[in-house]
Amino acid sequence: MEKFDREEGYCRMLGHYVPFNYCRTMKDGVPCHRILDCWFEKLPVKEYLQENYTDEEIAQILEPPRPKLASLIDLIEKAKNR
Ligand code: SF4
Repeated sequence: MEKFDREEGYCRMLGHYVPFNYCRTMKDGVPCHRILDCWFEKLPVKEYLQENYTDEEIAQILEPPRPKLASLIDLIEKAKNR
């Protein structure tokens, strides 16, 4: 899992270079949802994900984050239903 950790790539979200190690752990130990887009030209990142995660986990990893407003509305709806 750590074999590409020292590779570096430019992060468009942060505006500077980051090591692969950052990208594979940035969501509380889970890879960034953009990991395929950012690394496919440098590393066999698709194979990396397939070696280390189940298909279900990969689908969750690649899912774009929910907008904060949608999450907030969900929380309000849950609170109303209590
Ligand atoms: S995978 Fe995420 S954290 Fe890593 S470079 Fe791309 S956008 Fe930045």
